[in-house]
Amino acid sequence: MLNGKVAVVTGASRGIGASVARKLASQGADVAIIYCGSEDKAQAVKESIISEYGVKAFAYKCDVADLNACTETVKQITADLGGVDILVNNAGVTRDNLLVMMGEEDFDKVVDTNLKGTFNMIKVCARGFIRKKKGKIINISSVSGLSGIAGQSNYSASKAGVIGLTKAVAKELGGKNVCCNAIAPGFIMTDMTKELGSEEEFLKAIPLKRLGKTEDVANLAAFLADEASDYITGEVIRIDGGLAM
Ligand code: NAP
Repeated sequence: MLNGKVAVVTGASRGIGASVARKLASQGADVAIIYCGSEDKAQAVKESIISEYGVKAFAYKCDVADLNACTETVKQITADLGGVDILVNNAGVTRDNLLVMMGEEDFDKVVDTNLKGTFNMIKVCARGFIRKKKGKIINISSVSGLSGIAGQSNYSASKAGVIGLTKAVAKELGGKNVCCNAIAPGFIMTDMTKELGSEEEFLKAIPLKRLGKTEDVANLAAFLADEASDYITGEVIRIDGGLAM
């Protein structure tokens, strides 16, 4: 259980992040819901968490690619909820294209959000974790960062970068009792995968013969946030129905 803990979930206005925020709240954590553009959705997630689970929940607009915004947001979270115990770096974007067609801005946008955003949030939360000698960092990577996917050179690079970052942070903060792990989802049904085309094609490649649900990822995040996983750090856990074996 996560009673008395404060969890920060980036990109929690919809998709995987909203499910993770709900799951952590269902385990008793107070939650900070970070969003970038979807204010109404973030407020709706906040209201439903408060009414369903009776924990504290606040929504914060913050572009994770902006270090100053992250610093100010974590200051406000600390004032509202009293510090951070669990950080879930879930905010992410895609700008898929073939390498030769990909604009520089599409590479920068994806790397700035997915990789630099993860670095920014870890950086601003790290001092609090070090002071408490306890903390859980969960970074959402992707099977795209493990295997590479054609048409996703920007996204694959950002998600592989998240894995390297996860391992470096696990080594750097391990002595302070801070665990840092990555989750590598396969195809999870969200807005991000809506446009990807024929479901049947994907199902052929997935041994478990179904796409993932956001709740599948949320359950794993809850395990990595809980003391049940206190001896796991620097790990990358695929959750993909066997896709990237
Ligand atoms: P999604 O439904 O598109 O939601 C993306 C979330 O990220 C939204 O809440 C969005 O907030 C937020 N976000 C985007 N840019 C942001 C920024 N600069 N600052 C703060 N928040 C920002 O995506 P999803 O499918 O749930 O994906 C969540 C994570 O899982 C991503 O890191 C993604 O790469 C990863 N992942 C997903 C899959 C999949 O199959 N779905 C597979 C592997 C990995 P606003 O709406 O408020 O802008």
